[in-house]
Formats: sequence, C-alpha cells, structure tokens
Amino acid sequence: MPLNYNEIVSKYEKYIFQTYTRQPIAIKSAQGALVTDVNGKEYIDCVAGIAVNNVGHCHPEVVSAIKQQAEQLIHVSNLYYTENQAILAEELAGISGLDRVFYCNSGAEAVEGALKLARKASGKKEFIATEHAFHGRTRGALSVTHKEKYRKPFEPLGPAVFVPYNNADAIRSAIADNTAGVILEPIQGEGGVIIPSETYLKEVREICDENGVLLILDEVQTGFGRTGKWFAKEHSDITPDIMTTAKAMGGGFPMGAMLAREDVAANFVRGDHASTFGGTALACAAALANIDVIKKEKLVERSQVLGEYLVSKLRELNKDYILEIRGKGLMVGMELSVKCEDIVAKAREKGVLLNCTSESVLRFVPPLTITKQQLDTVVSVLDEI
Ligand SMILES: *Cc1c(COP(=O)(O)O)cnc(C)c1O
Repeated sequence: MPLNYNEIVSKYEKYIFQTYTRQPIAIKSAQGALVTDVNGKEYIDCVAGIAVNNVGHCHPEVVSAIKQQAEQLIHVSNLYYTENQAILAEELAGISGLDRVFYCNSGAEAVEGALKLARKASGKKEFIATEHAFHGRTRGALSVTHKEKYRKPFEPLGPAVFVPYNNADAIRSAIADNTAGVILEPIQGEGGVIIPSETYLKEVREICDENGVLLILDEVQTGFGRTGKWFAKEHSDITPDIMTTAKAMGGGFPMGAMLAREDVAANFVRGDHASTFGGTALACAAALANIDVIKKEKLVERSQVLGEYLVSKLRELNKDYILEIRGKGLMVGMELSVKCEDIVAKAREKGVLLNCTSESVLRFVPPLTITKQQLDTVVSVLDEI
C-alpha cells in the first residue's frame, strides 16, 4: 500500500530536518507541465522545480536517455575518462561561448568553484556582490548571498561587499586592491525577478575590464532557455570570465557546471578542485538529452514567445494591487502591494502551483513546453482569486 498524505507528513515530522516551509500536498507523478498529487489531484506547474524542469517533467527523451545510460554505466571516478563528459563539454562550450567546463552537482557547488577559481586567478580574497543576490547556501556561496536571515547565524563568512543591483557606478566605487571578482545574476531570481537596465551588464563588463577584475555571472536560474536565450547574458551581448549553471541543466536530474574562459581556467591546475560525483555518466546523459530536446523543440524561442504572451495576459488582469509585471522569456514576476502567500494557497486549491519570492512577488517559471491554453488557465485562476 502506498503511503497516504498524512502518513507521508508524519514521517517528515519525525525524521526529516525541518528546514523547509512545505505546502500541504505530496506529489506523486508529473508529465510535461502537469503534476499529480497522491490524491490524484492535478496541477499546472508554474514552479517547475524552481526553473529546473525547462523541458517539462519526465520528458520522454530525457527518461529514455537516463534508462539506457543507467544500464550501461552510472558512475566512475573522475580518475578516468568517459565519453559523455567529453561530448557534453563540447556542447556546453558551443552554447555558452566559454572555453572550459568543471562538472558539479548543484548551483551552490558551481558558485563555490567559481569563487575558488577567481581567488586563485586573481590572488585576491574579496568579492563584490549585489543587494538581494542569491547564490546558494554553502559557506562560499552564502558569503555572496545578501539576505541577513540566511547569513547571520553562520558568520564569519568570506569577505564580501554588497552594492545596489542595477547600479554599475556602485561597482566601480567598490573595486579595491583586494577585489577578487564581481559576482552577479543577470536577472535576480530569488530577489524577486529583478531585471536590470539594458546597459547594466555591459557597463559592469567594461568596469571589470578597465580594472582587471574578474566577472562571474551566475546563470544557475536563468540558463537553458529560461529567459528566451540559451543564457541571459546574450540579452546584453557580453561574455563573463566565469559562469555558473545548474538548475535546468540535467532536465530535472541533478547537474551543475562552472565554466570559464581559457586563460582564467588555466589557473586551476591538477588537484585544485574536485568532486566525486561531478559529471557522472548518468548526469551527463541526462544533460545531453536535455540540450537535444531544447534544440529540437525550439524551446529557447518558445520561451521568448510564451513569456511575452504570459506578460500580456497578466497585464490584462489590471488590478490595483498589482504593482508591476516584468519578465524575460518564461521568467516572469508579478509584484503585488500585498504578501502573496494567500494567493499561492488559493491557486493551489484551484489546481495551479505558483511560487512567492521576496514576500510579495509571484514568480512564474513554468516548463518552457507549457501550452498557451495552460497559461490561459493560470491567468483565469488568478483572475478568480
Ligand atoms: C538556485 C540558485 C543557486 C543555488 O543552487 P542550488 O542547486 O540550490 O545549490 C545559486 N544561484 C542562483 C542564481 C540560483 O537561482
């Protein structure tokens, strides 16, 4: 007998760290943009693992790649070569415009690698990060994450200075003799889907170049088509020195990567960095299938088109408690003058999963495979609420 909802929750309460605020449903299965809970209730998923399931849940090509690979080879040590790592690295270089890749398993790990590389390459220790930035929960990543509540209990962390986001001059002023690098999200995700001005990243790139400071772009949330480009950096036509990615990389399977330009990457030599599970044959197979699906189904373009559609539909709601609707591709935020937790709860009851970030921003990051009809349903549910 499968466990019912109450049985599942009681085991969580007894055995699992209570570090998450979970919503009162237990999910059993998912396909495309739909998830089903243990009671058989179906939901349109506008959370998608928080920008993870870009190709949709359980995409048949990703599932089949994982099945086939699992029968052949799951994991060997990075003491050996595997074909999948080689092929995937070439693919990643092609879509990212960077030269070399280090494989890991999550966003925070990718950020850890990036910070270590920037410190080794620069010989310096301090990072410039932005207010409301989110880069992950491990100690290095936390040192450049802004939220006081996340940081405070774990200080001292690595040295960092925080400057306002979307203000290039603030970065110029903050650069000092001990600056190892600047780390930024091209669009702030957890910070509330904050989209900087069109010139911001270009100006930051120029400031970093003028001062010989490394630019790390954290594309963990914005990568793999999410914003209507393969990576959000393309909106500004810049290339960072170091880039991080994870979330959507493995089509739902845990996978991350830190990428860098050749001369920066050269500062990491044998023994400088490692990961037992980084780039397993299984994760690489999932990531290769994921990239193939994004290309074949033209999901980058689809994200762009459907993102504009969703924003225009949401604007039609035209309610006075909606302060702003903003988005790039299918990374959309609706900022409210009220907290959004109640709306999230009501939408869930009506069969739509939404995420609330920064207390009053509803974040829409559905699978890029979602249909217009499903988006219409999402908007009409919001209208009813
Ligand atoms: C989610 C996220 C991370 C952390 O990724 P994990 O896989 O949870 O460690 C880092 N940076 C950004 C921009 C993110 O959105």
